[in-house]
Amino acid sequence: MSFFISCRIVLYSSIILAMAWGSASAQAPASSNANPPDTVAELVAANHVLAKLKLVDAFGHITMRDPTNPQRFFMARGVPPVDVTEKDILVLDLDSNVIDKKAGSAPLEKFIHGEIYKARPDVNSIVHSHSPTVIPFSVSKTPLRPIAHTGAFLLPAVPVYEQRTTAGGASNMMISDQKLGKALADTLGQNTVALLRGHGSVVVAPKVGLAVYRTYFTEVSAQLLLQARQLDGPLTYIYPDEAALANDLRNTGYTRQWDLWKKEMGN
Ligand SMILES: [Zn+2]
Repeated sequence: MSFFISCRIVLYSSIILAMAWGSASAQAPASSNANPPDTVAELVAANHVLAKLKLVDAFGHITMRDPTNPQRFFMARGVPPVDVTEKDILVLDLDSNVIDKKAGSAPLEKFIHGEIYKARPDVNSIVHSHSPTVIPFSVSKTPLRPIAHTGAFLLPAVPVYEQRTTAGGASNMMISDQKLGKALADTLGQNTVALLRGHGSVVVAPKVGLAVYRTYFTEVSAQLLLQARQLDGPLTYIYPDEAALANDLRNTGYTRQWDLWKKEMGN
């Protein structure tokens, strides 16, 4: 059997398995805390929810690690997230090569995802967003820290990635190759969120729905902090011990919010 045919069989097996999980989960009782493997259907729904929440527009993306092969991930080809269907989902390896080149082209900033998946085995879903309220925190000395429990995952820190350091000067500011993607992954470290100076954010999670939830509450946390800073200070931020307890609760409890968003979108 040729290498090409082997790749095609593995590729189609992955998609069929992921879709089968989707069918199985659709038939399962609506137990909101059940935590089955993510599916391609979940990834499609996540594209729609992110668009509805205005966390992405024509640009920005969410990916999901292949549950059957951790060396690969799923990403929609370069169409607006609100228009994504299962037919748009591509399979990429961790060097961010599209496996089936006839299936279409992945977005330019695919290297964000490949390099973070390489560096973080605990991460199964990544969102890259240009949501507006995080940007001021990427260009000022004010760190993005949570003042509300919903942003507890922002601790211990939200580092800021500076592209000029890696690019050696001016660039178009896109994460357009592996070297830039690796530098971003290094900046993220073991944190959940990193900002890209003058550009946007990356948010990681073990599940697709939790990645969407955290992206939404990263934007909300930025809005709340900007508002609180207009009042008399000093501010009281969420304490690290509180954050750990809040995360324990929301890292599974997010499904109530995630299920609601999907329902509102008809997914
Ligand atoms: Zn971008």
